[in-house]
Amino acid sequence: MNYELLLVGNPNVGKTSVFNRITRSSEHVGNWHGVTVQEKSKTIRYKDKALRITDLPGLYSLPGYSPEERLSAERIMCSEYSLIVNVCEVNNLLRNLYLTLQLIEAGKKVLLVVNMADELRAKGLAIDCKKLSERLNLPVAATSAKYGKSAFEILAAADDYLTENVEVAAPSYFSRFPIEKTVKTIAEYAVKVKLPVLWSAIKVLEHDDAVIDKLRLPEHVIRSIERNGKYHAAVVKARYDYIEEALSGVIFPVASKTKNGSRTRKLNKGKTNKRNSFDGIALNKYTAIPVFVFVMMLIFIMTFGIVGRAASDFLSVLSNVFLYLPVTEKLSSLGAPTWVVGLVGNGIIKGMTGVLVFLPQIALLFFFLALLEDSGYIARVAFMTDGMFEKIGLSGKSVFTLLMGFGCSATAVLTSRGLEDEKMRKKIAILTPFMSCSARMPVYMTVCSAFFSSGNWIIVFALYLFGAVTALSLAALFQKFVPCLKSGAPTFIMEMPPYRFPTAERVCQILWSNVKVFIVKVGTSIFSLNVIVWILSNFSLTDGFSGNSDSIMMTFSKFIAVIFRPLGFGKWEAVTALLSGLVAKEAVVSTIESLGGVGVLFGGEYANLDALAFMVYILLYVPCIATVSALIKEVGVKWTALGVSLQLFMAYASAFAVRQIGMLVINEPGIILAAAVIISICLISLKLILKSGHKNCCGCESADCGKLCKK
Ligand code: GDP
Ligand code: MG
Repeated sequence: MNYELLLVGNPNVGKTSVFNRITRSSEHVGNWHGVTVQEKSKTIRYKDKALRITDLPGLYSLPGYSPEERLSAERIMCSEYSLIVNVCEVNNLLRNLYLTLQLIEAGKKVLLVVNMADELRAKGLAIDCKKLSERLNLPVAATSAKYGKSAFEILAAADDYLTENVEVAAPSYFSRFPIEKTVKTIAEYAVKVKLPVLWSAIKVLEHDDAVIDKLRLPEHVIRSIERNGKYHAAVVKARYDYIEEALSGVIFPVASKTKNGSRTRKLNKGKTNKRNSFDGIALNKYTAIPVFVFVMMLIFIMTFGIVGRAASDFLSVLSNVFLYLPVTEKLSSLGAPTWVVGLVGNGIIKGMTGVLVFLPQIALLFFFLALLEDSGYIARVAFMTDGMFEKIGLSGKSVFTLLMGFGCSATAVLTSRGLEDEKMRKKIAILTPFMSCSARMPVYMTVCSAFFSSGNWIIVFALYLFGAVTALSLAALFQKFVPCLKSGAPTFIMEMPPYRFPTAERVCQILWSNVKVFIVKVGTSIFSLNVIVWILSNFSLTDGFSGNSDSIMMTFSKFIAVIFRPLGFGKWEAVTALLSGLVAKEAVVSTIESLGGVGVLFGGEYANLDALAFMVYILLYVPCIATVSALIKEVGVKWTALGVSLQLFMAYASAFAVRQIGMLVINEPGIILAAAVIISICLISLKLILKSGHKNCCGCESADCGKLCKK
């Protein structure tokens, strides 16, 4: 038999963790919005049944407010499935059960799963599932999905409940409201739009505008219902009273019964204080940003400093000694044609290993980001930046999306779907690609290792920072000067997750899933692309194999190369690398390696500066085709075209500026110093003039001052 279970619940309660446990998957788990923006399903076999488990984006209430909430609500209300597995978390049962009640009101068959039982245990408490089950009249199971505890008991409970024929009774507080009368009035409208009648009735009494709109109730019907009384606040209060009653005495202390119960409590108290004192720094308006920058700098030092670099260099030597040299020597000794030796040695081995040697650094970066994310610190970053970025029309939620851009631009663009404000959604989708994704990192490392002897991490850190500053500055400009992208006052409702220590299993899972994606990408698309690019770069249409001279790619890239001459990288090899970077950024490195290494790209007096301008261009131009297709999906062709044009423009303008200013600094440091002084004086004067413009003649700055000024 086939059944479908929907995993439903508030955001961050552990739905995806439960999904991963019972389906043995490794979907992204996270403390922030947008981690699950579309449903994910997997079918498993349990006993004699095929169970399709579907993980939905989180929602607080039916029918929800944000686009992702509405997506879940639509699925819950209007689609066919067998059972709802409603995941709640022990720390927020009062609020979580509010959604449970609405599911019951809608007549849905619900299995309640109380997750994070470990956190309750750590406080010396436990939950009486039997009591809660009797009070709510539905089966209840407790679990700790993160640690794999009791996850399969959910399946056992679901299995028992699936085949039961259940008539879901309306909650007792319904009798306090004129439900029957309302049902009679709205029944035909609810049936027409396929909404449960009883649920629609309570929603209309609650005066839920979204449901009233969906029912398409005529004005006179709404007025006739309102004549029976206004119940908006009463319905909400009745739900909370009901939940409070159901929860009373359900959570009870067990610490005193255990051998070391008192000790457990003491320890927890200590932990809470530590938590609060760290929040005192992490969320303080003066220290929050310095702390964040410090944390990021530590990560960059460890990832791109001595440790990461040594690991990559070691792998590089290994691949050269044990793969490149033996294979090419063997091929030559077997009398293979030069082009075969070149294709296998440079096109394939050098190209692939050139990217793969950065695996330790990519793994380290993801390891640290996983620690930050899973511990709850990233959620705090969004919280503390919420007020700060309000002025430029961004909410904390949009900062989540931008931060996700450090991982993968395409995935991050897809999470912009969760933003309520249409203009902000467009703006963020277009700007997210400016955040430096992990695929760009191998390019920085390859170029830095060749052209900058030390302090690589500082250059990489500066590039990441430059990408973020570009995105934020453009957001500010759009907010001020582009009316069609000026978003409204953003509202940000966010739960502050407690600091949670990530498990080794979870960190390994995140590491493995990212490393796997990287290896698969290099082994498939980058491999094929490299073979094609190598052939095009070494064969000419007239003479066949011609080495790099007069090859098809060379002839084509030379045309475009002229455009890049003012930026310092007008060689055809650089253009070929940039073109393959449109497919995937990792391909830039593999192409460079297969065309003779990064040394051939830049030369002459300003080689270091040219290399820097090249990295700035890599940072800002279109990330890859996957991001472009994600943009088309989220904001349509017109906005994607605008976004891509903006990325190309910003990349060109910034690389040009970096090179020209850099040359001036090298050749004419005096001019630069003088220019900096003049610009600073102009800016300060401008600020003073603007400020004095606000002052009234009496000296005060009040806009409605009229006393002395009239004189
Ligand atoms: P979702 O938004 O409901 O899908 O929640 P996720 O599965 O993404 O988890 C949100 C956060 O809760 C993550 O940081 C998880 O590591 C954490 N989490 C999930 N299940 C548990 C659990 O059983 N115990 C604890 N302590 N944390 C958990
Ligand atoms: Mg999720």
